[in-house]
Amino acid sequence: MTLTLKSYVCGQWFQGTGEPTRLYNPTTEEVAAQTSTTGLNYREALAYARDKGGKALRGMTFAQRGELLMNMSKAIHEHREELLELSSLNGGTTRGDGKFDIDGATGTLGYYARAGRALGDTFSLADEDLISLTRNPRWAGRHVYQPRQGVAILINAFNFPAWGFAEKAACAILAGMPVLNKPATSTALVAARIAEILVDSGVMPEGVFSAVSGGAGDMLDHVQWQDVVAFTGSSDTGLKIRSHRAVLENNVPVNVEADSLNSAILGPEVDPDSDTYDLFLKEVVRDMTQKAGQKCTAIRRIFVPQDALDSVSEDLKEQLQRIRTGTPTLKGVTTGPLATQAQLNDAMAGLARLGECTKTLLGGERGELEGVEGKLGYFLSPTLLVAHNSEAPELHDREIFGPVATLIPYDGSVEHVTRLIEKGQGSLVSSVYSNDSTFLKALFQAIGPFLGRLHLANDKIAEHSMGPGTVLPQLMHGGPGRAGGGQELGGLSGLRFYMQRTAVQGYAPLLEKLP
Ligand code: NAP
Repeated sequence: MTLTLKSYVCGQWFQGTGEPTRLYNPTTEEVAAQTSTTGLNYREALAYARDKGGKALRGMTFAQRGELLMNMSKAIHEHREELLELSSLNGGTTRGDGKFDIDGATGTLGYYARAGRALGDTFSLADEDLISLTRNPRWAGRHVYQPRQGVAILINAFNFPAWGFAEKAACAILAGMPVLNKPATSTALVAARIAEILVDSGVMPEGVFSAVSGGAGDMLDHVQWQDVVAFTGSSDTGLKIRSHRAVLENNVPVNVEADSLNSAILGPEVDPDSDTYDLFLKEVVRDMTQKAGQKCTAIRRIFVPQDALDSVSEDLKEQLQRIRTGTPTLKGVTTGPLATQAQLNDAMAGLARLGECTKTLLGGERGELEGVEGKLGYFLSPTLLVAHNSEAPELHDREIFGPVATLIPYDGSVEHVTRLIEKGQGSLVSSVYSNDSTFLKALFQAIGPFLGRLHLANDKIAEHSMGPGTVLPQLMHGGPGRAGGGQELGGLSGLRFYMQRTAVQGYAPLLEKLP
């Protein structure tokens, strides 16, 4: 019998009526589960979270909220093996890819748990110590943050059902806001199981956690002015959410993490026999193939000096040919299928669009697969393209969300590569592989405003680098322009989206005691 997922709202489990949506195993195309949110009363669900969950959290200190996050992390970690299996079943992930999501979730919850502990028995945050406003020291000011009194609606993309939830929920809950998690329907199995784990563990105070398995329905019609929406997904959906009438009318803050044409830049001086060059190859290959390239931070554009293009093409091709694609649970397979038929169709359409301005050096098709029956599964083998014309707009215009990247030559100057990076109109991350501090400094100044994160890589950090694709809770995640303009994580600054900043002015000794 097909597993039917449930939602958890108003402190109880809810199963939708009507025709369910099917979730698939992307390796075998078998139905993995089904779900529906038809009949779910979003107005009541949000009101319950605001009322019960908000009050419960605001009555807790940061240290207590941190304890709650630690308990959430432990509860999820206890079911790690089962979640890894479900991730593979519904997301097509290898064990390594699954760990990236599941362990990323527990690690991020753990990080914010410790941050809560360090904040101790307090309830609000302050920007700084007192600010003097006049010559008289008695009258001063201070910027203070308190939890917003609504619900944090967390809308996530299909590629990180566990981490996507955890990185948002950790900040929201530590800040003092209850959450309603809405994962992408196509890969909701892991998120739905996490919901069960959290509810069954008994760690969540009533109303602090709600979870939807299925479509958003009329959810956004019911947002109120103290709510926030934290969204990850495509630009098109981001625009719909941002411009939703109730969101606009109530001035509901929306954080958008969207598409991104991230880049890797090989410095003009890098010797092919150096550790820096090896690191460049390793990180490009890992980024292209980890999670079958379905990472918002994955490298899509590889900028190489014109005179190194041929040798880089050969070296990358050689390394990518060693990647084993196929059934993700098979030992030795490092790249699984794309998550859905729709994602595969999108990736193939993207490749067709790039057909005119690129040449395919490798891939572009299912390729040789291990442990896969016939034509089943949503597979695309690692695909390396090379641009005919570096300036072609299509190269910098639309992300292909799969194991695909394009080599784009530049003339070795900061000016040229800057102009090309800028064409991407805002990225989550760029990585630069170089030991030339003059080049790095000039590039940093030129491209910093186009990026959320800059990964500076050379032989000195070759052993320690986790690559540009790993998002760490200590550093901000987000990017300008096409990347959505959002900001998440980044230590305690990740809490601010969920809190109201109030400028308080008055008698200095009183202000000092406030937060
Ligand atoms: P998507 O189709 O935009 O869906 C994202 C989420 O929005 C899903 O939960 C979806 O629910 C929900 N949604 C769709 N329409 C909605 C509406 N009208 N109101 C409220 N919610 C709505 O994106 P996706 O296919 O899952 O993810 C792929 C995209 O995400 C890629 O473009 C990738 O670049 C981007 N991404 C960005 C980041 C980042 O951090 N910047 C991270 C990961 C992915 P249903 O599934 O039920 O439709």
